[in-house]
Amino acid sequence: MDRRGDNLADEWPPLRTITDLALRKWHVRLTCPDCKHVRVMSGAGMWYLFDRKRWPDDIPSARKRFYCSLCRCNRRVKIRPQIDKTHDTPTGPKLPDPSDYDWKKLIARYRS
Ligand SMILES: [Zn+2]
Repeated sequence: MDRRGDNLADEWPPLRTITDLALRKWHVRLTCPDCKHVRVMSGAGMWYLFDRKRWPDDIPSARKRFYCSLCRCNRRVKIRPQIDKTHDTPTGPKLPDPSDYDWKKLIARYRS
């Protein structure tokens, strides 16, 4: 039984990276475990961001790139969000989506 509480292991093979989520057309839901603030980010946009910055995109590393903006604002603490997959519409400032060219490059990289 998975006790982390996220839903990334529902799928087989489990989703381990932002790339996995993007490739399978999921969006990324960030939930603050403290105040329950939720932000949904475009999976493709997030993958593109991580790819451009060359950030490791495994889920534990990805969590460290984010913190809850409300808790940061109200209480000056940085709370790492939980990461889930979702089909909800992305919220908040929009991440640029990859161009067709970059998207095809990603697919090609994982098709071999
Ligand atoms: Zn919060």
